[in-house]
Amino acid sequence: MKPHGSVESFDAITLKRGFPSLANPSLHYLDNAATAQMPEVVLGALRQFELEARANVHEGVHRLGRAATAAYEEARRRVARFLNAFSVEEIVFTYGTTSSINLLAFSFGELLKPGDEILLSVLEHHSNLVPWQRLAERRGVVLRFLKMTADGRLDLGGLDSELTSRCRLVALTHCSNVTGALTDVARIVGAARMVGATIMLDGAQRAPHAPVDVRELGVDFYAFSGHKTYGPTGIGVLWGRSELLATMPPFMTGGQMIDQVTLAGASFRPPPRRFEAGTPPIAAAVGLGVALDFMQALDWRAIASHELRLTRRLLDGLAAIKGVRVLGPADTHDRSGVVSFTVEGFSAQQVCRHLDRHGVALRSGHHCAQPLLRAFGVDGAARASLASYSLDADVDALFAGLDDLIHQRDVHFPRRNGVRSSNCRSG
Ligand code: PMP
Repeated sequence: MKPHGSVESFDAITLKRGFPSLANPSLHYLDNAATAQMPEVVLGALRQFELEARANVHEGVHRLGRAATAAYEEARRRVARFLNAFSVEEIVFTYGTTSSINLLAFSFGELLKPGDEILLSVLEHHSNLVPWQRLAERRGVVLRFLKMTADGRLDLGGLDSELTSRCRLVALTHCSNVTGALTDVARIVGAARMVGATIMLDGAQRAPHAPVDVRELGVDFYAFSGHKTYGPTGIGVLWGRSELLATMPPFMTGGQMIDQVTLAGASFRPPPRRFEAGTPPIAAAVGLGVALDFMQALDWRAIASHELRLTRRLLDGLAAIKGVRVLGPADTHDRSGVVSFTVEGFSAQQVCRHLDRHGVALRSGHHCAQPLLRAFGVDGAARASLASYSLDADVDALFAGLDDLIHQRDVHFPRRNGVRSSNCRSG
């Protein structure tokens, strides 16, 4: 049974044709929150860079060196456009969201004093938790946490008590990678500004679902990963306001980021290069720039309603399966297409291994959010996550796989009273 009509309102089929890795119609890739696939245009740009401009950046005066530098700095301009940054110097290339947040923790963190506070939440990915825990150990900084509501949203009821005048940084996810809940950024920014705190958003799960406007968001730092935004792995971004980046000491040191070096010491370049020690992932940065341009050319209003419709299809379908529990909002209000769930009687690994046999790719485990899963009282979940190219057929393949899994259990382990623990979706 299909919970909704299967008509594709947005032409995702045509869009999907631009992703060669998804050409096999029996592959139902629903692990986009972990890594999205790359379109042909990005693959082509990577190949072209490697063939025509492969060299190191910045110091080379030869033709290939100049071409590599030009391509790398053009990529930075493309990221700045995608984020609507105030200036291109605000774009720091990193290796991903984790690396962006570690940079911030080691650099901005150096400016903090014992007793200063950082406000986080129970919804955070380990990448936006562990770097701050380590900083707290190093510098005596105090971590405070917002809780979550029963349906997996950020509980803003705790803002007044947890956001104190000692808070120097509010570091929150823009969208949960487990529950899909979107953060009410305006509320957070309003409250943080009242106490003079700096604000960082972990945009790993938000940036893949439409260009981001950091000016409109009104935050100070924004981190995201290339491989989730249709770009290569090994590249990410930390955007920061120039006036803040200018006050921050380097994180990693070495080549590319220095100004002058003597045997006694060194001075450093201004941002962003101060934060880009060593040879950067040049080709990956170029690929990311092309991926973000690709994203900017898409109709995000249409894609948003397409993803929303598929999310509803997913939520309705899962709600109709007995024994399935969704960890996150049951409605599509302020929610993305990340849907985590458990199936009674099966571990997350069993569910995902079974679905893999049906060609359906889901992620299983704790999703690098153990405190959040613990708050739900589980130690693992299966997670389906949508992208612009996801189709009704992908969601339906997931339902077919789950039906099959549950049917097998009912056949092999029928209830003693003879009534199967029917998990067939009702209606
Ligand atoms: N934050 C969130 C919310 C994420 O979903 C992820 C990736 N799962 C990360 C941070 C870490 O991203 P990366 O592994 O690309 O550094």
